[in-house]
Amino acid sequence: MSEDTCGDTFVKPDVETKDDTKAGNYFVSNYPPFSFWGEEDAPCVESLLNSPEPGDAPLGLYYHVPFCRKRCHFCYFRVYTDKNSSDIRRYLSATMQELRQYAERPYVAGRKPKYVYFGGGTPSYLSAQQLTELTDEMKAIMPWDETEEVTFECEPGTLTEKKLEVIKNFGVTRLSLGIENFSDHVLDINGRAHRSPEVFRAYDYARGLGFDNVNVDLIAGMLDETDENWVDSVGKVIDLSPDCVTIYQMEIPFNTTIYKSMKEEGKLSAPVADWPTKRRWADYAFSELENAGYTVTSAYTAVKDPEATKFVYRDRLWTGADMVSLGVASFGHLGGIHYQNLVHIDDYIKKIEEGGAPVRRALLTTEEERFIRELILQFKLGRVNLGYFRDKFGEKVEERFSEILADLEQLGDLSREGDELVLTREALLRVDSILHRFFLPKHRDARYV
Ligand code: SF4
Repeated sequence: MSEDTCGDTFVKPDVETKDDTKAGNYFVSNYPPFSFWGEEDAPCVESLLNSPEPGDAPLGLYYHVPFCRKRCHFCYFRVYTDKNSSDIRRYLSATMQELRQYAERPYVAGRKPKYVYFGGGTPSYLSAQQLTELTDEMKAIMPWDETEEVTFECEPGTLTEKKLEVIKNFGVTRLSLGIENFSDHVLDINGRAHRSPEVFRAYDYARGLGFDNVNVDLIAGMLDETDENWVDSVGKVIDLSPDCVTIYQMEIPFNTTIYKSMKEEGKLSAPVADWPTKRRWADYAFSELENAGYTVTSAYTAVKDPEATKFVYRDRLWTGADMVSLGVASFGHLGGIHYQNLVHIDDYIKKIEEGGAPVRRALLTTEEERFIRELILQFKLGRVNLGYFRDKFGEKVEERFSEILADLEQLGDLSREGDELVLTREALLRVDSILHRFFLPKHRDARYV
């Protein structure tokens, strides 16, 4: 994803929230926090790209499509709803120029992506022809013959059978449908563009075409969500029987339409369910999915067959893989450097058309920060393998964080099973509020975004 980090709103992590949903970022998607990334480290990306390629380190590609039919009221991503086909053509062409710039540099030249992720925005907003031309060009620049997974995010209302056939044919293995809810009233009041009949139609097409892995997203705690509606939505997902189900708990960052309304009305709490309710709903969904034979594989996902259904993008990223990111406002990670591209589409395109690098800010991380980053991201899986951190970083997690771990054990949030630390289900559902404890002191009170 590519969070919309434009403007000057800096958000302190909302770690203290226990009940009401206040405005702010709740989920920890990376480390160190974005507010520590700056323009001063942007040249590090250039220097790295001129250095030799790093042996057998895996590489991935993230491609950001910043277009949507409508802006959802809870959306905090960099998206545009007003671009015409010539604007889109110009954007796609800039992204291919960006990919060529990477592919020609010593650090990336000759490497092939192990995973490709199309996120947004709405990748499925692009037409079948645009997608065919785009992916043909991507593969000509950087072949996909070693790619283990290609994920593609879709908004159900943008899918036709023909477009899905094109998506399947250019190599997508993991199709992700942003369903969010099955009630047309809830979808409408949250500003979603699609309605439930489009979900069933798109899902049937996808199944008919034989995608390897179909994921569906639900959000617990949309505007006007009720117990009854949530139970109904979970039941409908189980009836569909996708390979993977992702459950998000609603957060209300400052750059959402919902927050703007709160501000106008002078409200401190968002008009959505409180955190205990959202966790109860996520817990209910996971329990029902388990009853239906699914296995919970992270704080947000359950899969039907853990042996067959992998999520390579997440697992590679959370174990420190390189990722070239393409497109406006997208986030990448290369050789221990975090970076984000320019966040306005015109600036991004202009920079590339001038032959420049569109990196807006970056952070050259230390070994210690990379260790903590992987630790907190892997905690989201609910299980942390201590041997992994001993082997990769020479760090004994159980000694380094002995006080925090003892405290978590005493609170009943965590136990040790052999060489693994295991979070309880209850703790896993609020893992993002626990992770800040593992941050370095200078990052603990960080401004987010
Ligand atoms: S579909 Fe909605 S939530 Fe997703 S990127 Fe577009 S506007 Fe944002």
